[in-house]
Amino acid sequence: MTATLAGQVALVTGAGRGIGAAIACELAERGCDLGLVDVDAAGGLNGVAETVRSGGRRALAMSADVTSMTAAEANVTAVIRELGRLDILVCCAGITRDAVVWKMSEEAWDTVLAVNLKGCFTYCRAAAPVLRGQRRGRIVTIASINGMRGKAGQANYAASKAGVIALTKTLARELGPSGVTVNCIAPGFIRTAMTAVLPEAIVAGAIAETALGRLGDPEDVARTAAFLCSEGARHITGEIIKVDGGQYL
Ligand code: NAD
Repeated sequence: MTATLAGQVALVTGAGRGIGAAIACELAERGCDLGLVDVDAAGGLNGVAETVRSGGRRALAMSADVTSMTAAEANVTAVIRELGRLDILVCCAGITRDAVVWKMSEEAWDTVLAVNLKGCFTYCRAAAPVLRGQRRGRIVTIASINGMRGKAGQANYAASKAGVIALTKTLARELGPSGVTVNCIAPGFIRTAMTAVLPEAIVAGAIAETALGRLGDPEDVARTAAFLCSEGARHITGEIIKVDGGQYL
């Protein structure tokens, strides 16, 4: 792997497992040092940090809830203090609490909106002054094709991801004049712990509606994120890139 991001520092939320972990490892392979954030400190966070370090890069593992503005600011400050700078922010932390609207609890609505949408805002809010000040940087958010097309049983999740898309486009306009790009990846069905709990019929349905006839892996999303962070993507901003094998066409 060529170290196309050598010397850069990235902060990834939801980095303890799944897509966030794959993005962190991909960015490390390309030369980044990593700030890693996850609410589940007992999960894979330290293992991901070890993987980053075993590849010769530095890693700072931080246990935090992305819904907290205070935590976001503390994490950005810690990354700059410990790793020296901040070039890339990837907002990947996310959850589901599925139910049809007439059975969805207020708590399920609030929690999903808080983690998926506010949890993106908090880290963008904390990182934006840093990236603006240095007049360069990359932000990548993670939405979902279900935030574009809607999905029965996922009103909270789809609304949160549509919000992430709007946040991304707005931030792209706000940070563009400072030379910072802001893009969004909208994955289709990806094999992770989040989707492992779904019934076999749902999985079969996802494969059937996908042009490539298969499910995605976290690495498929990670490679796209790394591209969006690269110099090769310098003229791409405010874009929503589906990584879905043609699931939503
Ligand atoms: P995952 O459940 O495997 O990983 C999510 C990670 O986020 C976990 O480590 C979890 O502890 C962390 N997290 C959850 N709440 C948090 C909080 N409040 N603060 C900090 N960290 C928190 O899920 P995944 O499949 O890897 O999904 C990653 C992202 O990709 C999510 O935003 C998800 O919505 C999105 N996505 C996933 C799929 C898919 O099919 N797996 C499809 C489209 C979009």
